Amino acid sequence: MTNQTHDVIVVGGGVMGCATLYYLTQLGVTDALLIEREGLASGTTGRSAAILRSHYSNEVTTLMSMYGRDVIANFEDVVGEPGGFVKTGYFFLVSEERAEGLRKNVALGQRLGLHTEAISPDTARELMPDGFDLDGVATVAHEPESGYADSSAVTTGFANAARRAGGTISIGHPVSELLVEGGKIVGVATADERIYADRVVLCGGPWTNDLLMTVGAPLPLEFVRHQVIVLRRPLDRLPTLPTVADEPGGYSFRPDSSDTTLVTIKEDPADRETYNRNVDSSVAATALEVMAKRHAAFADAGWDGGWSGLFTITPDWHPVIDEVPGVDGLFVGAGFSGHGFKMSPAIGRALAEMAVDGASHSIDASPLRFTRFAEDDLIQSSYGASVFA
Ligand SMILES: Cc1cc2nc3c(=O)[nH]c(=O)nc-3n(C[C@H](O)[C@H](O)[C@H](O)COP(=O)(O)OP(=O)(O)OC[C@H]3O[C@@H](n4cnc5c(N)ncnc54)[C@H](O)[C@@H]3O)c2cc1C
Repeated sequence: MTNQTHDVIVVGGGVMGCATLYYLTQLGVTDALLIEREGLASGTTGRSAAILRSHYSNEVTTLMSMYGRDVIANFEDVVGEPGGFVKTGYFFLVSEERAEGLRKNVALGQRLGLHTEAISPDTARELMPDGFDLDGVATVAHEPESGYADSSAVTTGFANAARRAGGTISIGHPVSELLVEGGKIVGVATADERIYADRVVLCGGPWTNDLLMTVGAPLPLEFVRHQVIVLRRPLDRLPTLPTVADEPGGYSFRPDSSDTTLVTIKEDPADRETYNRNVDSSVAATALEVMAKRHAAFADAGWDGGWSGLFTITPDWHPVIDEVPGVDGLFVGAGFSGHGFKMSPAIGRALAEMAVDGASHSIDASPLRFTRFAEDDLIQSSYGASVFA
């Protein structure tokens, strides 16, 4: 193989890398290359539950989720590809202890233009299918426009649209090294070749630190295993289902195909390479139990397997979107802590803007800066450091 030169290189073909490549082409970059070592959406993205909601504790995450929902819900019109969006409505349930935080977040969302309301459990029950038990719930945040989508379809959709606009995707080539000269990125190396570019965007998911360590700038990333339990519910008793997050219970659920419900539950520290990709029968039993408490139809539901995936988490459960300190032209998006799918359009756009102009114009990404951990300036959340953020 010969050595090549490109305008921008993106490393990683998950939803974040493909969104970045797409937005690079939209910003007029005609010679961007994405390098993926396995297959598009073969990492975290292909294991996502792909829930879209915008209830967050901070302006930057709320805005990124709102933008992501708008793009993904209108994927065919915006990107020209199917994204599998299903509008279910979203209910976020909290106990008394978290009620004030919920109201604060709803007010933040409303100020930013999000269609959301804080409602009582009685009002929520009227909006939900008959028979929901909201025992222990003090307040509910309702987002009628939220739902879920198809994370693999969105990833390949971004990739297809980027290819049509002149982007190139190379699959099956692990990047082994970042090439740096005099404090500037100059390209990447694979086993076969050196590929040159003066801007590189790193979207390597759980493997991001393998490359960051080679330039002496690792992030404080850890991994937790998150389980997705698949249940089959009796459709005659519960034909439709909204998407729900149960903060006191620490789980979320959403419908999938006609009688299938996905329950996303439990985060345990995990080894990145050897973690169990299946689900634990004990966790499936817990999922059945908590779901049956919320709706009696789940007492007769069947367990139909599931899968586990990794959240790549930072100390404050918020991502890093920034230029890597000490390496001009090297940008990173990592540590999505279980929120990345819904935010991928906003993050891809921000990373593309950074690569093109040196800074993100569409969002103020400064709260998500690389150095905040060293500065002890972690992002705070109404629900503590957790996936609810
Ligand atoms: C079980 C589960 C449920 C989730 N549910 C939700 C949800 O409901 N809503 C939501 O918004 N988010 C959710 N998430 C989070 C979301 O899926 C992730 O944040 C998002 O998919 C991360 O995308 P990514 O592109 O950063 O990483 P990845 O998808 O992991 O992509 C990284 C890619 O980089 C490639 N790569 C790595 N190193 C190299 C290298 N050296 N050379 C070449 N290629 C390389 C990998 O092969 C991989 O394809 C969930 C995650 C999990 C695991």
